[in-house]
Amino acid sequence: MYKAFLIKYAEIAIKGKNRYLFENALVKNIEYQLKNVEGTFTVRKENGRVYVETEGDYDYDETVSALQRVFGIVGICPVVLVEDNGFDQLVADVIAYVNAAYPDKHFTFKVDTRRARKNYPMTSMEINAALGEKILEAFPNTKVDVHHPQVMIHVEIRPMINIYSTEIPGPGGMPLGTAGRAMLLLSGGIDSPVAGYMISKRGVTLEATYFHAPPYTSERAKQKVIDLAKKVARYAGTIKLHVVNFTDIQLYIYEKCPHDELTIIMRRYMMKIAEHFANEGKCLGMITGESIGQVASQTMQSLAVTNEVCQMPVYRPLIAMDKQDIVTIAEKIDTYETSILPYEDCCTIFVAKHPVTKPNLNYIKKSELKLSEKIEELVKTAIDTTETILVDAE
Ligand code: ATP
Ligand code: MG
Repeated sequence: MYKAFLIKYAEIAIKGKNRYLFENALVKNIEYQLKNVEGTFTVRKENGRVYVETEGDYDYDETVSALQRVFGIVGICPVVLVEDNGFDQLVADVIAYVNAAYPDKHFTFKVDTRRARKNYPMTSMEINAALGEKILEAFPNTKVDVHHPQVMIHVEIRPMINIYSTEIPGPGGMPLGTAGRAMLLLSGGIDSPVAGYMISKRGVTLEATYFHAPPYTSERAKQKVIDLAKKVARYAGTIKLHVVNFTDIQLYIYEKCPHDELTIIMRRYMMKIAEHFANEGKCLGMITGESIGQVASQTMQSLAVTNEVCQMPVYRPLIAMDKQDIVTIAEKIDTYETSILPYEDCCTIFVAKHPVTKPNLNYIKKSELKLSEKIEELVKTAIDTTETILVDAE
């Protein structure tokens, strides 16, 4: 019964002079998400409103789920748009709407009218009262409840009259592409895909770096990370993924440094290399899935030592989240099932039984001195041999 959707957005509305930039990005992103949905769609801006209009048959469920992946949208309202042909016609239209939208007519309701066009001959209050009465007449099993109605019937008098009564939640956030780029350190775990999703939700375009250690890590571990990037790309758009061969660096650190410091030193080199690609890609920051205290390398002492190698800000959206809350988001964005596949990523293979949990930066730097210039060569080789893959949504 619906040929259009009214798109509600919140924070964009407060962006002042730049508002049109955000709205244009939102429109473009909606068009992009709808490209793969069966149907013909037109996305239209009108006085601080965005409408998606359909032509002919379309897949309603697919349309809604595509819109639920567009950051910036807070609500998706299936809407009936009718011409203003006088109040009697409006009554007929609203009754037809209620009749079609609610097969079971036992419900309480309230009519909520807004006039964006003040030249309408009745006030909002008058329209509410008159429409309420007509609905009660047409459907005697309905009841008015002005405080907690089961159904809120919105009638908005705009160039066209909008009739709607449901609002499906969108993902919220800001339109993708309105906040610059950031480099996600993406592993095969549960956390980093969620971290990427969260930052991307604020409008940030993602790029990603993955470190693997063949032959210690398998081709399937790499494929798993590509699959995760595909899942995140459903929301975040195409992701440029850098796959860095980290084997020789890991082996060399393993040979030269105390094994309980291995993870922390490795993580410092990961950050350095990721920052190289971040600079190359004009990123404004890096993103990790770290959370205080989750593992030895994520105590505040460890985070400080890891962070010390970076010039760029490092965004850690999960920093204060509990694992279960992270898992809930992973399930929502459908990365969880992929993340829990068993293939090892590079960190897990060389980890010591008892890694340092309170590393001291001076000691770590002293240990790193044992690495000599050879480490610089290895880093350069790792960068030069990095494979870059453009990952699209699956
Ligand atoms: P995740 O579930 O994201 O793998 P984790 O709990 O396993 O996180 P760590 O392995 O300590 O934690 O990794 C912390 C963060 O470092 C990850 O969230 C990710 O951002 C980054 N990271 C870890 N391993 C890799 C890797 N192999 N490639 C790229 N980034 C990595
Ligand atoms: Mg991990």
